[in-house]
Amino acid sequence: MIETDVIIRDQGPKPSFDRSLTLYNPPSIEQVEYTGTVYDRSLNRLISEGSISWDDVESTTTCQSEVGDLITEAASGVDVIALVIVDGLSYQDWTDSGYEAEPIYVDCPTRTDCGYPNVVRGASNGKHLQYRLFNKGYKTRKAFTYWERKDNDLSDELHDGFSKNDVIGNIQDFGDSISYLQTHDWYRPKTYLQFTLTGPERVAHRMKEDPVIQSEVDAVHQKLSDLRETISKETDSFRIFAVADHGILWRMDTDFEALDEKWKQGIRRDYEDPPASASVPESVGETSFWAGQQYLRLYHPYIFNNLRSNEPGVHGGFSYQESIVPLIEYEDLK
Ligand SMILES: [Zn+2]
Repeated sequence: MIETDVIIRDQGPKPSFDRSLTLYNPPSIEQVEYTGTVYDRSLNRLISEGSISWDDVESTTTCQSEVGDLITEAASGVDVIALVIVDGLSYQDWTDSGYEAEPIYVDCPTRTDCGYPNVVRGASNGKHLQYRLFNKGYKTRKAFTYWERKDNDLSDELHDGFSKNDVIGNIQDFGDSISYLQTHDWYRPKTYLQFTLTGPERVAHRMKEDPVIQSEVDAVHQKLSDLRETISKETDSFRIFAVADHGILWRMDTDFEALDEKWKQGIRRDYEDPPASASVPESVGETSFWAGQQYLRLYHPYIFNNLRSNEPGVHGGFSYQESIVPLIEYEDLK
């Protein structure tokens, strides 16, 4: 077997949005440009055979913790900035459904309670996006969420700095957020809008039968289009960004390999605060710290415990599907 190295082209400190080109560098043959993309299912194979590592992916891909910086940089030119954080949407599912996006590496455990803060705050001691935008003049703010702020830590974290009146809680459907915008006098020049939207995650953990991913993704696309339509009725100066907290690894797409031994019940791809006795071979997973907490996370296609029949999708580990999410952007319609 010939050993090959795939090097994702280093883009330097100010990378362009196009990172799809890679260098394919077979030993002792002239270097040839590889024009395919590593942002597809082959990434799991390239990593498991050791051609590239997750560190390589992290250092050559825009990271989730940098999305706030991108949005802050993009901000001052337009009157409305909107950020939609989609729960559980992989780059794979978005692009397989025919839509375009920039691949983003989730540089934290691929869990809801890590991905959301990683988007709005970046580094765990970072400054919330809403403060950074405030400093750039976005003093009018509204946040829309499924969770009541008072009874949810994650919601507290997301809406730090928003006044009580600026958080519209208990949204039952994204349509409620849209209706709010359509029926309230919300628009001022330099407004920041922040939304949470449940993506395919809603069918990952409690559904028998295999979900139809395309229709889940189409639903997200339709909601984002409705948002664009609604904002464009007020102003033609806006930018909408959507990014996911993490992707989902589906059973329809994966031959999972359950680890033997007895593992804590309920864990699948990640183990939060594992005891010292919990360890896996280097080729199976790794332990790392994030925000002061330790996580043992598995590589593709390993799983601590087998899935239940009503559990078609999982996340928490390292895989192309969980770790690469889309950054979707809409500018004004003109
Ligand atoms: Zn999630």
